[in-house]
Amino acid sequence: MNPTIKRLLGYCAQYPAWLTQAGICLLLATGAEVAGPLIIKLFIDDYLAPRNLDWPMIATLGASYLGLQLLSAAGFYLQSLRFNRIAQGVVQRLREQVFATAIRLPASYFDTHRSGSLISRITNDTEAIMNLYVQVIGLLVQKLVLLCGILISMALLDVRLMLVCAALLPAVGAVMWLYQRLSVPVVRETRSLLSDINSRLNESLQGMPVIQAMVQEVRFANQFAEVNQRHWAARLKSLKINGILLRPLIDLFYMMVLIGLLALFAHEGASVGGAIQVGVLYAFISYLGRMIEPLIEMTNQLNQLQQAMVAGERVFALLDEGRESTEGAVVPLAGRVSFQEVDFSYDGQQPVLQGVGFTVSPGQMLALVGHTGSGKSTIISLLMGFYPIGRGEIRFDDSPLAKLSLAAVRRSIGLVQQDPFIFVGTLAENLRLGRDGIDEARLWQALGEVQLAEFVAQLPDGIETQLEEGGKNLSAGQRQLLSFARALVGDPRILILDEATASVDSQTELALSKALAAARRGRTTIAIAHRLSTIVDADEILLLTRGQVSERGSHQRLMAQQGHYAQLFEMQSQGAWLEEKRA
Ligand code: ATP
Ligand code: MG
Repeated sequence: MNPTIKRLLGYCAQYPAWLTQAGICLLLATGAEVAGPLIIKLFIDDYLAPRNLDWPMIATLGASYLGLQLLSAAGFYLQSLRFNRIAQGVVQRLREQVFATAIRLPASYFDTHRSGSLISRITNDTEAIMNLYVQVIGLLVQKLVLLCGILISMALLDVRLMLVCAALLPAVGAVMWLYQRLSVPVVRETRSLLSDINSRLNESLQGMPVIQAMVQEVRFANQFAEVNQRHWAARLKSLKINGILLRPLIDLFYMMVLIGLLALFAHEGASVGGAIQVGVLYAFISYLGRMIEPLIEMTNQLNQLQQAMVAGERVFALLDEGRESTEGAVVPLAGRVSFQEVDFSYDGQQPVLQGVGFTVSPGQMLALVGHTGSGKSTIISLLMGFYPIGRGEIRFDDSPLAKLSLAAVRRSIGLVQQDPFIFVGTLAENLRLGRDGIDEARLWQALGEVQLAEFVAQLPDGIETQLEEGGKNLSAGQRQLLSFARALVGDPRILILDEATASVDSQTELALSKALAAARRGRTTIAIAHRLSTIVDADEILLLTRGQVSERGSHQRLMAQQGHYAQLFEMQSQGAWLEEKRA
């Protein structure tokens, strides 16, 4: 069996009770359905044809026919209910698993995969898998059992006629095989295009301000239309395959078998003695009709099966992605951080960091400065364990990062990222971010330290103010300060500030740097800054140039060196002086 299908089926093994109930209902319903024509046959051959009008017996036959039909309807209904329950359960579990995997994927996965494709896997693909359970498995099993029931009843009536009808099966089997061969590539293409549609949609929604500001609506609409069109064409292709292969061909086979049956009947009727009874012929024609529907249904379901199989492949590919390791020692960190001769590259080719080394102890502050793209944020990402390093070693206290539990390391770090993210929720929720035991007084204290308390206090709902997606109802500076406060409330051993005050006015920044001086006490601080005036009191300053440390030392030493740092600093203080003069 196809491994994907096998794995998908494995999920329903968790519902043994429902499966058994569904199976019993199915058998009952099928038995009742195939018994119907047998009763009619009895009526025709034993009562109608010989003019034997035994009314009580005929009434009993009629009543049992009706009863069996009702039983079969109820059985099929209950059976499909059970299968639906299983399907919903499986899809719910799969979605949970996919999401749980997605949030544990290493950062490098998100660098190379679009978020829309992830969304597509969590929603559309799991939906297609649900169809596998509701329609394919439910119907396929149901029809298969029905088919067996019909064949058995036919054999009981007349083996030769049964063999004529059974000739349908290999013919339909051949159609199914052909269908499978033709449709898999098309279905795969369709699903991947659907994922593209989701990616585009997601990207456009996120980039809406840029699209509108650059008047790019038409171009984006056209791009979207293009993918949509390709998806339509692929769908059409698979519909064409369905259209030719499914119903018409099987209908043709049906007609041929019907002719065979009638020919045999006529031939037997002409010969003396072994004539086939009219009731038997009736039963066969009725069974043949009941046989053709399941066959068409089953070939139809193949289409759904293909969809589910391809969707399953995509979902399992994600589930099998390497997750971030959850192992490693959980030790309380004192806060000493060191890099030793670290080399790193995102793509394994272009070097981004080369031989970077430094040590910061608790109570000290390290500053990273340098041109845009010189590798400052990359150093922070490595420190957080977002990417595995190439050569060298990163140590916390005396343990290499590779041996420590990532979760434990991250919990002792307070990170203020270059572009902070705000979640939908209240301001307080955004500050706490799920960490227990932080009371409101602590939140206000942190807000005070980052100079945000006054602003929050004058909001109508104060700290319970609802924040929108991505913090859209805050200014860029406010978002930064909020993220700063978020880092502080956790009382981290290590505080990392990546351009934490880049969007804040100079006056607020000055107040902040005073608060920061207090916050730094007893902590390890690593700060990245373009505005050099904010880091002059750092214990060590590293100037990065294209991924290498080109100058290092305290502010005084670097100024005395008269190197690149001194140049940059002079330039910036001249700029500040000019600004002051203009104001
Ligand atoms: P800035 O001052 O603008 O924030 P930076 O010093 O923080 O710059 P980094 O973000 O560390 O710079 O980037 C260093 C280099 O690594 C850049 O050349 C960038 O193109 C590359 N880079 C950064 N992030 C990735 C990534 N996720 N995948 C591939 N390359 C990356
Ligand atoms: Mg950066």
